[in-house]
Amino acid sequence: MAAAGWAPPRLPGFILTERLGTGTYATVYKAYRKTDTREVVAIKCVSKRSLNRASVENLLTEIEILKTIRHPHIVELKDFQWDSDHIYLIMEFCAGGDLSRFIRMRRILPEKVARIFLQQLACALKFLHDHNISHLDLKPQNILLSTPENPQLKLADFGFAQYMSPWDEKHVLRGSPLYMAPEMVCCQQYDARVDLWSVGVILYEALFGRPPFASRSFAELEEKIRSDRAIETDLVVEAVKKDQEGDASAALSLYCKALEYFVPALYYESDARRKEAIRAKVGQYISRAEELKALVTSSSKSLLQQGNPARELLREMAKDKPRLCAALDVASAAIAKEEEGKDDNDTLKLYQHSLGELLLLLAAEPAGRRRELLHAEIQALMARAEYLKDQMKMREAQSMGKEALAEPVRSTCTLQ
Ligand code: ADP
Ligand code: MG
Repeated sequence: MAAAGWAPPRLPGFILTERLGTGTYATVYKAYRKTDTREVVAIKCVSKRSLNRASVENLLTEIEILKTIRHPHIVELKDFQWDSDHIYLIMEFCAGGDLSRFIRMRRILPEKVARIFLQQLACALKFLHDHNISHLDLKPQNILLSTPENPQLKLADFGFAQYMSPWDEKHVLRGSPLYMAPEMVCCQQYDARVDLWSVGVILYEALFGRPPFASRSFAELEEKIRSDRAIETDLVVEAVKKDQEGDASAALSLYCKALEYFVPALYYESDARRKEAIRAKVGQYISRAEELKALVTSSSKSLLQQGNPARELLREMAKDKPRLCAALDVASAAIAKEEEGKDDNDTLKLYQHSLGELLLLLAAEPAGRRRELLHAEIQALMARAEYLKDQMKMREAQSMGKEALAEPVRSTCTLQ
């Protein structure tokens, strides 16, 4: 029976269940082996109808490569099968999904995590290159995570991979433009080193939440790669704009994001003149951020105090609802703790805990005055929690910036 609509195809010996992802040619399903162990696997199903001669070759290379290699950071191909409609690659199941989704869900990854991922990626790549294999389609969608907690990276989708010794040159355009080395995009002539470019782009995306040359067309991409304009200046331009528009809190958070970029740059820049220029910028952003912080703090204090009468009324109306009372108590504890200015992490946890409860209660609350008040209270608490989070991030960025500025001048002139 052919697969109809979204129903997975049938494969004897397996029960195919949810769809894990779709790529250029394939749909990947989670599946169970019909044995006592019920082993979980991922099955990549390629419809034969969608294949032309080139993609058949790609698929055969993928099978050939994956069958011959074994590495802790490369997805394992357990078996492959086919029937009249499909070709099936039976692979190790990666419960953590792909790196693209992982980054998107967290917006950006902490440096500590990015560093571990980079090591694992480098390890897989070294192994591949030692076997004269180039992946040629490295991007977050093709990197899988073994588990959601403490994940191990697993390189996947060898659909474009090639046996290629380091001195081989190829002329075919492969991979995805945003992650492609410029020699691939512009000259369509490249060698095994193009994988390293993609790794750099992936690392940038992990740290900043978007690829460095995000573009809507080939022309824009080529222009961005060729230009020597610093990628991150967008943040500062945006911060200055918000500042001029009088949106102090947006400007503040953008300046802090910019600092997160410039401070490491200050450490790594080896050219003395450029280092001095960055140092001046960091100083300038810190002092503007401090002015903005004072502004935002005073206006938010008066705003937060305004909320009180409504809060008292809500408490009155919550008297016959013990669960609501308890959640409001946690919220009050969070506010009190915040005003004391003690442990921010604890305060944030209290906010999150009370908000979780209040949102559940809101869902069950019938229309009326109490619902309106509850809704307003939730919004006020969310704003406070967001504000606290921004403050925590900002303090971190600023102290990093100050530390960097306090660094002895000696290192400014290490080279040249
Ligand atoms: P394509 O060649 O069509 O791009 P991929 O091999 O990249 O196919 O798989 C498409 C998507 O399916 C991936 O981006 C990922 O989200 C999901 N996926 C693929 N293999 C697995 C696996 N072994 N475990 C979990 N999810 C997977
Ligand atoms: Mg893919």
